[in-house]
Order: sequence, then C-alpha cells, then structure tokens
Amino acid sequence: MTEFIPAAKPLIGQDEREAVDRVLQSGMVAQGPEVAAFEREFAQHFVGGRPTVAVNSGTAGLHLGLLAAGVGPGDEVIVPSFTFAATANSVALTGATPVFADIEPDTFTLDARAVEAAVTERTKGILPVHLYGHPARMKELGEIATARGLSLFEDAAQAHGAALDGQAVGTFGSMTMFSLYPTKNMTSGEGGMVVVRDDETARRVRLLRNQGMERQYENELIGFNARMTDIHAAIGRVQLTKVDGWTEKRRQNASFLDANLRGVVVPPVVDGARHVYHQYTIRVEEGRDGFVQALRDEYAIGSGVYYPIPNHQLPSLQQFAPGVELPETQRAAREVVSLPVHPSLSQADLERIVVAVNTLAKAGS
Ligand SMILES: *Cc1c(COP(=O)(O)O)cnc(C)c1O
Repeated sequence: MTEFIPAAKPLIGQDEREAVDRVLQSGMVAQGPEVAAFEREFAQHFVGGRPTVAVNSGTAGLHLGLLAAGVGPGDEVIVPSFTFAATANSVALTGATPVFADIEPDTFTLDARAVEAAVTERTKGILPVHLYGHPARMKELGEIATARGLSLFEDAAQAHGAALDGQAVGTFGSMTMFSLYPTKNMTSGEGGMVVVRDDETARRVRLLRNQGMERQYENELIGFNARMTDIHAAIGRVQLTKVDGWTEKRRQNASFLDANLRGVVVPPVVDGARHVYHQYTIRVEEGRDGFVQALRDEYAIGSGVYYPIPNHQLPSLQQFAPGVELPETQRAAREVVSLPVHPSLSQADLERIVVAVNTLAKAGS
C-alpha cells in the first residue's frame, strides 16, 4: 500500500517535549518568563526587535492589534476576501466594517488599484494578507496609505520570514499579526504574535491581553484574557530555532515542483519577493474538485483548497458585501489547489507528486 502524503505535517520533536516538561516541572504554567523570552526572541528573529506581544491565537492578535491601533465602530478597513475568515472577522469584532477588495491574479494578494478604488471617507486602514507566504504589494499599498492618511496593517499569519526587496514582512505596517497555529510555518500549539512600532501601542495590546491590567487589580480598561501560556511559549521557542531550516526546505521543495510540473499554473513569485511557501498553490483551470479527489483516491496525495468560498460570500460576512462581485477572487476560489510542500517531504514524495499532477493535468486537458 502506498503511504499517504498529507497536505501538512506539524513537526514536534523530543526537544519541544522536553521544553514543555521543564515548564510543567516548574509548577508555573501560565504567562510568565517563557512568554517574555519568546517575545524577545521572536522579535529579534523576524522583525529586527520591534515591540512584539504574544497572545493565545493569531485571531486574538489581529483583534487586539486593531483595537490598540484605534480601529472601532464607524471605521472601515480594506481587506481581501480571498483569505481565511479570521482577517475580516477581526475587523468586524472591533465594530468596524470590513470592506472587501479584489486580488491580483498572479500573487493572490490585494490588488492596489482595487484598494485605491475602495477608499472612502471612513477608511481607517488597509489590512493585506501575505497569502500562502508570498508578500503582498507593500510598496504600492504603502503609497496609497501615505497619500490618504490611512494605517497599513499586515496579516502575516502565513508568512514567517517572507520579505520584499530585502525587507521582512512585519516591518512595513504599523501593526502585524503572525499566527502560531500548528499548520503554519512554525507553531506554539496555538498562539499569535502582534508586532507594532511603538511602546505605547505595545502597552495597549498588553493591557487588552490581560483584562486591562498592567498592575494586578488596577484595571485601566476593559480587556480580554488572551494570554499565552508558558507551556505554549516553550514550544514556540524551540520551533524558532528550527524554522529557518524548515523554510529553506519548503523553498527547495517549491523549486523542484516549479521545475517539474507540467500543464498546471505554478505559483508566480514577483521580482524581489521572498516566498516562504506556507502553501504551494497551483491553478487547475478546469475540473479542480475532480483533480483534488483523484490526487487523494488514485495517488494517495493530500492537498487543500484554500479557500473554496470567498469571505464576501460567506453566510457570516456577506452582510458587509451586498451585491459585491470580485471576479479574480471568485475565479481563484474555483481554481486553486495547494499541494504538499512541507519540510518532511522526501525526494520520493516530491517525485510522486510530480507524476500524479502531470498525469492528471494531461488527462484533464
Ligand atoms: C491562520 C490564519 C489566521 C488566524 O490565526 P489563528 O492563529 O488560527 O487564530 C488569520 N489569518 C490568516 C490568513 C490565517 O491563515
């Protein structure tokens, strides 16, 4: 029986287990010194030491980060519809309105012209997503933000270590979120990091994370409990020492697929972009769902469709987009398939993927 190749595979080793055990043995498991160390190390590793606050999920990070940046009722924030629902959910949870703009067909990220067209008097900010690990058009979006007096945020949930013209994602916007969910490029079990520019905003995120308290029982504002535990931080700290090697392996796997796949559209990378391949996403222009099924049933290869329903058409979010049509978003939702690209693939796995995709693409054309 051929072994099934999964679409994603979190890598948790002996050293992560030992780190967790160390925290458990200490008897102090809630937010403490491991979280503080993880924040410092993460900030040094990815964003040049900018103020960074750990929270218990990426979604909580976006929500609290937007609140700390002053987003609230009456505001609009421009987001892509072609993303995980957490992006627009976080905007809606602040009381602001998510406004959906279309994507570029090549990078699957926000189209700057569509963003420009969506700006109104109520627009407070732009929240691009570095989808699949490819950086969004930060230069063009930054110019629009500057010209219109808007904030630029980043959803870097899928993009640890991605960069544009040598500049790391997380250093373009005034607030960036990274997710640490198990299928992301690194994990803490669950978790998120919020990166901001100044200590005052970081302090507001910290207050919101902990019931509005800096000093115990002197609550300054109404906050959440979005604290990360030391157990999770201990996992994340170990993962941080491995993530660069994994990213290199993802990039090598992607190069092999780029060079060998035939008859499908492989993921384009714009000039100057460093893609970290959270997903390796191809387009199958006809019969995508049958393709996914055949990969699984005939070739024992897992794949994923991220995302089959655009946010502006979801039952939960369509209230913000009555009558909205986003042609490139809707086409991408029909055509995309993400193939396995994770670091535990062997050369034999990669070759099996190539044979399967090329055979199915030929049969379908
Ligand atoms: C995973 C993800 C999130 C949410 O992160 P969680 O840690 O799962 O809450 C937000 N945006 C995007 C694009 C994601 O992929």
